[in-house]
Amino acid sequence: MIPPRRWWLRRSLRFRITMIATTITLALLFGLAGLAGKTLGPLLIQSVDDELTAVLATAGDQVRSGSGPPERGGIAVRVLDTAGTPVDGGAPSGLDREQVGELKAGLPVTDPGDPKWRWLGEVVTAPDGAQRLVAVGAPLVGFHAAVVDGSRWLLLVALVGALVATLATWLGIRSALLPVDRMRRSVRALPPGRRLPLPEAGDELRDLAAEFNALLRRQEEVSERLRRFTGDAAHELRSPVASIRVQAEVAVSNPDPELAQETLTDILDEAERLSALLDGLLALARSDAGELPPAEPVEVVTEARDAVARLPEGAPPVRVHAAVPTAWALAAPAEVALVLDNLLRNACRYAESEIVLSVLASRSRVRVVVDDDGPGISAEHREHVFDRFYRVSDDRARSSGGAGLGLAMVAEAVRRRGGRVTVGESPEGGARFQVNWRRHHG
Ligand code: ADP
Repeated sequence: MIPPRRWWLRRSLRFRITMIATTITLALLFGLAGLAGKTLGPLLIQSVDDELTAVLATAGDQVRSGSGPPERGGIAVRVLDTAGTPVDGGAPSGLDREQVGELKAGLPVTDPGDPKWRWLGEVVTAPDGAQRLVAVGAPLVGFHAAVVDGSRWLLLVALVGALVATLATWLGIRSALLPVDRMRRSVRALPPGRRLPLPEAGDELRDLAAEFNALLRRQEEVSERLRRFTGDAAHELRSPVASIRVQAEVAVSNPDPELAQETLTDILDEAERLSALLDGLLALARSDAGELPPAEPVEVVTEARDAVARLPEGAPPVRVHAAVPTAWALAAPAEVALVLDNLLRNACRYAESEIVLSVLASRSRVRVVVDDDGPGISAEHREHVFDRFYRVSDDRARSSGGAGLGLAMVAEAVRRRGGRVTVGESPEGGARFQVNWRRHHG
């Protein structure tokens, strides 16, 4: 047995909206019919009363002026004394004492006989000074049947009205939902790289289709990036692995201890290259997956000095220029270290004789500038050097051991904290790399 809520939620939108509209219409129309049925009885009695009032007025006048009790077809006109006894020579009126009292008080009386009678009365003074109760009455023939029939008709009209409303709602929703059906079919048959056709009407469905297309575009961009990244990564991993394999094969087929030593050294170099590449790939993959340590204040001047101290022996001298004694940036310490290490390592690789590392601070930003006096980066390469696996010159980069991931990692680390990385020309003649982070005011 499915619970009613689940059953209801499994129905189509068209069914649910139609049911809700039908229930509301039915309740409304039945309510109105009931209300109308209730007022039917009083309305009928009111119309009888209106007629009786008119007759009573003339009858009262006639009794007051002393002329005999008037005749009126279908309406009984009786003249009684104040105790209710007929003085018009007719048969007893059938009104009891209580009813006579009510008539004297000017109240209408409904006598519950079969058929019912409706009476109105008025006390008048006859020319001889006697008080007379003039009573006019009419039988309420067919009253009950009229009320019952009328109510039945009203209910029937309500039912038919509700049915018509249901049909109209069903058809209306069907035509309103046609574009949704069309859209669903288009989505199902959508070939890769294509977009949904936008409905002509400028309605919610058009907005939905536009949003869906934007989502498709974003997804395609992500999967394209991922595809390129995976392809490039596989390509980059292939050469060190192939090199290790070839060297190992040579060593196995040629058991010369002297050569073996040389081969092992080469294999070690390649393995280190491979390991660095894997570290880089892992760091980028983590970053892509959105793993972001919380930002904390990092003192960049100290980090810069530490990074210089970490440089290998024999590296060109680095002049550290700190424009402020301390500069706190909002980042993670490991990110700042990664950025500085990569920029300094590159500068060392390409500098002729000197590197300048500057730490500057504005009101809202902390900026690090690395200048070298090497060959620099020509304008056409500048916009690409932060791409993954991009190398300015394959041979040179290879000989220097890089896979083109260092600057990509720098850019990723800085950008995800809302910072910027740029490359340009240094006054020293070589390349100038600049990065900045949001400044923390302690
Ligand atoms: P890699 O890890 O291979 O060095 P990077 O992403 O760090 O890769 O650098 C990308 C390219 O930018 C490299 O091929 C290198 O030629 C160039 N490059 C980076 N830094 C400098 C620099 N200071 N001077 C000249 N070229 C540079």
